[in-house]
Amino acid sequence: MKTIGKISMGLGDRFGHQGSAQLKAIIEAGKKGIEITPVWNKSNREHMIIGTQPGDVRKEADSVTAKAVFKKPYYVDADHINLDTVDRFIESSDFFTIDVASYIGKKAGDSEINEFIKGAGKYSGELKIPGIRKPLKVTNHLITEIAEKYLFAAIKAWEIFRKIEKAKGKGNFVTEVSMDEVPNPQTPVELFFILKMLGEENIPVQTIAPKFSGRFNKGVDYVGDPDKFAEEFEADLMVIDFAVKEFGLPANLKMSVHSGSDKFTIYPYIGSIIKKHNKGLHLKTAGTTWLEEVIGLAASGGKALDFVKDIYYKSLEKIEELCAPYADVIDINISKLPSKDEVAKWNSKKFADSLRHVPRNKDFNPNMRQLIHVAYKLAALKMDEYYHLLETNEKTVSSAVYENIYNRHICRLFDLK
Ligand SMILES: [Zn+2]
Repeated sequence: MKTIGKISMGLGDRFGHQGSAQLKAIIEAGKKGIEITPVWNKSNREHMIIGTQPGDVRKEADSVTAKAVFKKPYYVDADHINLDTVDRFIESSDFFTIDVASYIGKKAGDSEINEFIKGAGKYSGELKIPGIRKPLKVTNHLITEIAEKYLFAAIKAWEIFRKIEKAKGKGNFVTEVSMDEVPNPQTPVELFFILKMLGEENIPVQTIAPKFSGRFNKGVDYVGDPDKFAEEFEADLMVIDFAVKEFGLPANLKMSVHSGSDKFTIYPYIGSIIKKHNKGLHLKTAGTTWLEEVIGLAASGGKALDFVKDIYYKSLEKIEELCAPYADVIDINISKLPSKDEVAKWNSKKFADSLRHVPRNKDFNPNMRQLIHVAYKLAALKMDEYYHLLETNEKTVSSAVYENIYNRHICRLFDLK
């Protein structure tokens, strides 16, 4: 069976030019004793907006790993697929993020719900989970609520899983189940019963992506109480541990954090908690590589700077349209966005510093960073020119990508200096 490594990292590369720079960061971590399995991910949404095919991600992953003579495992993730979108990912992917978000809240059939409630009844009362100090409170009412909210999603996850398995063959891919793209976080108790459902459906889930408390906006830091996050994260880990034994799930089942990239405040917490319990982790980053490309182009000056300034001007005009598909995962304060006239006067450094995620830099502007993050469609409209600029300024661009993944993500997560 294809088994994902203990620590893995999801890497997004919207325009398919930065795989080598991303891999370089993974290789560097390996030299420091941190073995990370790279997983290249790109969602259907990103493919649709840019006009690329899932097979393009496979080609990129195969070619950059061959070029670097990288002999360790790596994966291509069909990111956030469901029954409607999975088909064209099947051939090229060997990691599937089965997204059940749109099925949560829909009710399964009465007999299925009743059967689940019957089987879960023995957990009613005080549920003691090793590693969690206070027992979890479970009532029959709560079990019913959870069954009504999540059982249909678990059944759908099985349908999607079976569709993939029929096409690819048993054990030839890694299965993740994600439910992070919903308005409300799941509690550890909910996670426990969701895992019970996945166990009953016989889904060999290796990574599970719940939604955590707090805001995970794309490309910027965590918004919320990091101590509360840490407590919830640790409780979830203990729940997974217990559920694996209790429900016969794969022994390597681990947490997947869909970070949206750049969650600097909570990385040290995540790193120390998984170390404390000797657990695995899948850390998915978003397509922020695109942001690093813009930063690299800004830093290159000349035509490259003009190009990214133009993207910014257009993004101001199309702000609503660009933000709409990402409404749940961005928070842009429009009044803090610099105007076109202001930006027109900016030099390379000022533009790059405004976007580069270095919070102590007084020029850093998280609102502008989030807007550019969702504005990649505008570069896709001028693809030839954009690719040409990426290629002529490759060194500056790839070093921005590397620095972001290695210094700002990996080093913070694993406490490397
Ligand atoms: Zn996600």
